[in-house]
Amino acid sequence: MIGIDIGGTTVKIGLVNHNGEIRYKWEIPTNKDNLGETIIDDVWTSVTDTLAKQQNKSEIIGIGVGAPGFVNPEAGIVYEAVNVGWRNFNLKDELERLSNLPVFIENDANLAALAENWKGSGDHSKDMMLITLGTGVGGGVIANGEILSGTNGTAGEIGHIIGDPNGYPCNCGRVGCLDTIASATGIVQQALDKIEENPESTLASHYKKHGKLEAKDIFQFVETGDRLSESVINRTTDILGRIIASAATVINPSRIIIGGGVSKAGGPLLSKIKKNFRKYSLPRISDCCEVKLAQLGNDAGIIGASYLVKKNLEKTPLML
Ligand code: ZN
Repeated sequence: MIGIDIGGTTVKIGLVNHNGEIRYKWEIPTNKDNLGETIIDDVWTSVTDTLAKQQNKSEIIGIGVGAPGFVNPEAGIVYEAVNVGWRNFNLKDELERLSNLPVFIENDANLAALAENWKGSGDHSKDMMLITLGTGVGGGVIANGEILSGTNGTAGEIGHIIGDPNGYPCNCGRVGCLDTIASATGIVQQALDKIEENPESTLASHYKKHGKLEAKDIFQFVETGDRLSESVINRTTDILGRIIASAATVINPSRIIIGGGVSKAGGPLLSKIKKNFRKYSLPRISDCCEVKLAQLGNDAGIIGASYLVKKNLEKTPLML
């Protein structure tokens, strides 16, 4: 199977076997010129070049593709993917025409949820949620063994649950979405506000010295006991815990998985999220729900895309 993960900077491509093991993977840059019109051509050219060099072609039974944005998996259409420039783009038809292979598409965070459930921290849960804390905040929800897409491809967009109605503007046009708080960008923005209020602080002098600030710097400062950094992370995980607890009430999951670049902060971040999730959750919900870090990292998109092919072509149930 071929798994393709289309991102705003790179397209990740992998040849994946039926057990979800990546046999070969590589990436190409995402060409966003002219509303991303050459991306699929670029991808297919790269795939054919790579396949020509491969010995064993028997495993290629179909292609799965993850796209960032709002997707209609049945129709094979990407409604809108701002990061790559697509709007009402018929991704499935375009790639099937080039490849003569069956193509299946999904939202990228939904694919990450499928991947974690298949080969990562999800452990084949019937009901689970994945939240990715990266440049933005993404979400994927599996309920009753099926990924939720919703009426127009917007189900599970946990990043756009509002966490602070008086907060920062979000790229969705509203104010205070979780995306503006718990993403790497949101964490840095909160820290910059603290620096402005506390120009004599350690954090302020670090920023002055280096001229930039990243989310990982703030986590490092928390480790050293820096009060301002700690207040940023405490507020972030408080809001995140409250939103996760609320979202969990809808599907009563057995697993909640935290992924994305910010989750590399690891154990200390996870323990704060867990604490706040329990604080806000109905005990019956948190008692049966394990909060864990994602395991698959950058491979989640490729693996989830391959799972989509496997699921559709073999008509296997979600739980393997
Ligand atoms: Zn938003």
